[in-house]
Amino acid sequence: MNPPPARVCHWCGKDSGFGTWPLPSHICKSCYAELLGVPALTREEIDTLPYGAIELDATGSILSYNQAEGELAGLDPARVIGKNFFKQVAPCTDVKAFHGRLAEFIHSDAGPQSFAFIFQFPGGPVEVNITFISTDRETAMVLVHTLGSKPMP
Ligand SMILES: [Zn+2]
Repeated sequence: MNPPPARVCHWCGKDSGFGTWPLPSHICKSCYAELLGVPALTREEIDTLPYGAIELDATGSILSYNQAEGELAGLDPARVIGKNFFKQVAPCTDVKAFHGRLAEFIHSDAGPQSFAFIFQFPGGPVEVNITFISTDRETAMVLVHTLGSKPMP
């Protein structure tokens, strides 16, 4: 019998046996622990992550943009750093459900936030899990994991 879907982590796709935490995010504890450590990684380590990682400040300026996100979006990371994510790179995210959420997140002391979102890429819509992790420099790491039709390797 298949395990109930709520037990399957939306990040690693595995059933950890411990359920997911916090519940609305459907991310298992071991993935959460890994995601919390992302802001402390070096730029090189972030580039080797199998999921997208973008660092944004409160205005949406892109401070870092890793290889996996570049591949997902079909963009060269070197060309998007310094640009405005919401205005110049991913206008589909310039909505309350993403931009509004991020602005609120950066200005709060909230823990990680995770939600489902649909990116409108040139190749078509892609459903992703977005997780915001705060850093110690008034920015947020935006982690992007594809769901469904385009799984990460
Ligand atoms: Zn997991």
